[in-house]
Amino acid sequence: MIPVTKPFMPRLEEYESYIRGIWQRQWLTNNGPLVNELELQLKQYLNVPHMLYVNNGSSALQIAIKALGLKGEIITTPFSFIATTSSILWEGWKPVFVDIDPHTLNIDPALIEAAITPQTSAILATHVFGNPCDIDAIQEIATRHNLKVIYDAAHCFGTKYKGRSVFQYGDISITSFHATKLYHTIEGGAVFTQDADLLKEMAYMRNFGFNGPEDFACVGINGKNSEFHAAMGLANLKYVDDLLRKRKAQYLHYTELLKGLDMQMQAIDKNACHNYAYFPIILPSETVLKKMEAHLIGHGIYPRRYFYPSLHTLRFVEKYECANSLCIAQRIMCLPMHHELTEEEMHMIVRVLLRTQNH
Ligand SMILES: *Cc1c(COP(=O)(O)O)cnc(C)c1O
Repeated sequence: MIPVTKPFMPRLEEYESYIRGIWQRQWLTNNGPLVNELELQLKQYLNVPHMLYVNNGSSALQIAIKALGLKGEIITTPFSFIATTSSILWEGWKPVFVDIDPHTLNIDPALIEAAITPQTSAILATHVFGNPCDIDAIQEIATRHNLKVIYDAAHCFGTKYKGRSVFQYGDISITSFHATKLYHTIEGGAVFTQDADLLKEMAYMRNFGFNGPEDFACVGINGKNSEFHAAMGLANLKYVDDLLRKRKAQYLHYTELLKGLDMQMQAIDKNACHNYAYFPIILPSETVLKKMEAHLIGHGIYPRRYFYPSLHTLRFVEKYECANSLCIAQRIMCLPMHHELTEEEMHMIVRVLLRTQNH
C-alpha cells in the first residue's frame, strides 16, 4: 500500500526523552516549558519575530478572524481545504468566493476588487500547496480598500517568499502542524503576525482570555496545545531540513519521470523558495482522472483529490461563479509524497499512469 502521505516519526527514544521530563515535572499543558521551547526554536528556525503555538490550524484561523475584528464579508478562495471556508462561517461571517488563477491555483488578485462591497472586511487567501499567492498585489488592494489580510499557510512550512518566511506576510498568517503536513506536532498549528499588540491579543484569546487568575481581558477559547504535542514538534524539528531536501528530490524526480504524461503542473511563483510539500497533477478531464485514480488504487496506490469539491459548491454557502476552481477541482489529484517513498515506488506509480493514458 502506498498512501498519499505518511506522518514522519522521530526515533522513539528521542520522543521518550522529552516524555520523561514531562513525567518528572507533571506539567502537562497550559503553556508548559516544552511549548515555550518549541515556540522559541520555531521562531529561530523560521526567523520570525512572533508566533503562538496553538492546538490546530482551524482554531488558528478562528483566532485570527476574531483578533482582527473581522465582520460581514470575507473574500476567500474556493480552492482550499474546507477549514478555510468553515472558519469564516463558524465565526458567523460570509465567505465571498473569488475565482483562482488556473496556473498558480491561488486566488486571482485581478478578480478581487470587483468582489469588494461596503461590507467587506478582509481577504483570507490560501497559499495552495505551499505556492505563495501574489502577495504584493493582494496587499496593494487591501491597503487601498482598508481591508485586513489573513493567509492560510497550512501547506507552507519551509516556504520562503522574497527571502523571508512566507509566514511573515499579511496581517496574520496561520499554519497547521497536523500529522499529514510536512512538519507536524501530531495536532497543532500556529498564528504569526508582525504586530506585537495583535500577538498579545491572540495570546489572551488562546487561553480563554485569562489575564491573571481572576481577570479576563477578552472573549477567548481554548486554543492551547499540550506538552506531549510540543515534544513531538521538538523531536521532529531536528529532521525538517532532511524532510525538505527529500521532498525536493522526489518532486524533481516525479517531474522527470512524468514527462510523457498529458498533464499540467502548478506554476510556482518566481519569488518563492518552494517547499515541494505536495505533488499535484492536473489531468485533461475528470474522466481521465477517475480512470487513473481507479488504476492506481487497483495497484494499492492511494492518490488524494486535493481539493475536491470546490468550496464554492458547498451546500451551506451562497453561490458564486468560479469556473476555474470548478474545472481544476474536477481534474486535479496529489500523487503520493512522503519521506519513505522510494524511487522504485515512484517508477511504479508513473508506470501505472502512463499505461492508463496509453490504453
Ligand atoms: C490542514 C489544513 C488546515 C487545517 O489545519 P488543522 O490543523 O487540520 O486544523 C487549514 N487549511 C488548509 C489549507 C489545510 O491544508
